Amino acid sequence: MSISKLSSVLATSYENFPKGRFITLVVLRTTHSETIFRTEGSGEPMCSEFVQAGLEGENQKTIIQRLVMTKRKQVAPERRYGREHLRAHELLYTNPKDGSLCSLNTNAPCEMCVDCFLYGFAAGGGGAQKSRIWTEDAFSILPASDVVGDRTINAIYETGTMRDEKGNASTALNTSEYIKPGVHFLDVVTLKDVTADELRYIIGNILFTSRYGAVSSRVGRMENEILGVFGSITELPSSLELVQATYDVLGKPLEHPLNINQLITASKQVIANWKNKRGVSVQLSEEELANLLTDVETNWSPDERDNFLKRLTQSYESFRQVAPEKNKGKGKSKGKNTPVEVEI
Ligand SMILES: [Zn+2]
Repeated sequence: MSISKLSSVLATSYENFPKGRFITLVVLRTTHSETIFRTEGSGEPMCSEFVQAGLEGENQKTIIQRLVMTKRKQVAPERRYGREHLRAHELLYTNPKDGSLCSLNTNAPCEMCVDCFLYGFAAGGGGAQKSRIWTEDAFSILPASDVVGDRTINAIYETGTMRDEKGNASTALNTSEYIKPGVHFLDVVTLKDVTADELRYIIGNILFTSRYGAVSSRVGRMENEILGVFGSITELPSSLELVQATYDVLGKPLEHPLNINQLITASKQVIANWKNKRGVSVQLSEEELANLLTDVETNWSPDERDNFLKRLTQSYESFRQVAPEKNKGKGKSKGKNTPVEVEI
């Protein structure tokens, strides 16, 4: 099992204090349907940023507007995926303050479940847990102008026309931007001081989440692929650097849709150079990466899942017993107005 290859950068058990062990996942995210990322409301433009096209030569001088998949747009659906299974296996805890079951976007994280221990929480009077999953904005390879389309949404009546039985025209006309299918985002996800089972849980959440963005029940199909796994003593290059370096490697001119195999080859060529960078001690080979992904799928399989999730939950047991002691003597009203981490 290749997970042992990462043992020097994995924690043997959960600990409260960080020890400088980093695991970096390089993730390629590809839209498979129309997708919409925006901050809120319809009619707003898609999230994007002006950045250097590449890191070398002319690319370094050229500024392009790239689409951005923000941190929250990545993590919120992935957390929810894992939590669905924690809920199904009855591994979410009840919040001691108001007796409600652990839930996101409320003031009542249970502070005891796998999700709370890994992705963190900040609420109530019970303290806080820092997230050990560090995400950053992911950028599209191609400029936004190449990969965003406009669609006029109109509400057609059941007759199939724009007019109702009385002859009134439909007023539900709207123009909306969307990200085209086949758009690629490159992303660097950094994990800090995680155990082998925590790593399996996080990778599972990334690989098995398939819907992202606004109105994700109808559009927003996305496929995630892990292109590389590194162990190091610090953070590796950012998502933006990865996208820029990959852009430099890809032959020009570039047009949407990109050939995914060429893109993967270019990205892997870039990350192969990371071996000599910034304290990298482990880089999984192609075979070791494939074995790791098989290991993850095995643990998440219907036969193993219950056992796997319970073992992971059990690993926090001794830390749960300490928590109530800490809270003693704290003000009753404290926490009511404490801001919570809001996930969209
Ligand atoms: Zn919880």
